[in-house]
Amino acid sequence: MNIILFGPPGAGKGTQAEAIAERESIPTISTGNIIREALKSGSELGLQLKQYMSDGRLVPDEVVIGIIKERIEKADCKNGFILDGFPRTIPQAEALDKMGIRIDKVIEIEVSDDIIINRMSGRRVCEVCGASYHLVNKKPQKDGICDKCNGTLVQREDDHPDTVKNRLKIYREQTKPLEVYYSKQGKLAVIQGDNKSIKETVELVLNALEA
Ligand code: ADP
Ligand code: ZN
Repeated sequence: MNIILFGPPGAGKGTQAEAIAERESIPTISTGNIIREALKSGSELGLQLKQYMSDGRLVPDEVVIGIIKERIEKADCKNGFILDGFPRTIPQAEALDKMGIRIDKVIEIEVSDDIIINRMSGRRVCEVCGASYHLVNKKPQKDGICDKCNGTLVQREDDHPDTVKNRLKIYREQTKPLEVYYSKQGKLAVIQGDNKSIKETVELVLNALEA
């Protein structure tokens, strides 16, 4: 099964993606994580992209399209994959269609802006493996330490409130139109994520995949 997950920053896409990945035994592809990895390695691509990310802007379509193309060709995607954070624009969605990549289901997670701004201030990520936590909603076993790899948990530069507002604006302008794009293709399921625990939302997402 080839699945797309989209929703505003802080909607919990990463957590949903992990749950689906585990149940379906397919990999999660997060363009955000791939780009953050590239930044750490200090590669030329990383340097170019750093500024876009820390400003909360989208990186150019051709860059992420290239990243996705290369990643989806790998053997582990043969039985399916979950795209977390791609596509984020209509041209990115069109690129997938043009590459002949069949998408089975698109899950949109809806969360209102004030809830997002609250949640983002508590988000922490592992600086080593990229795993995501929350000070209140998804605590690590030991404060400030990653459960998976013992790495240190930090706040992402683009999770600061002003940058989050900018990311939300860009989300509404550029990503939200995917709703119409995929609903026309008959693939869209929308899930309300407000005031629900992570577990409840995961449940709804898994149910939507069976429908
Ligand atoms: P979140 O988890 O908050 O939704 P991500 O980790 O997915 O955020 O992405 C962080 C940043 O990486 C984005 O703000 C953007 O700069 C860049 N990025 C990730 N995916 C894409 C994409 N598909 N198109 C353009 N930029 C992207
Ligand atoms: Zn870690």
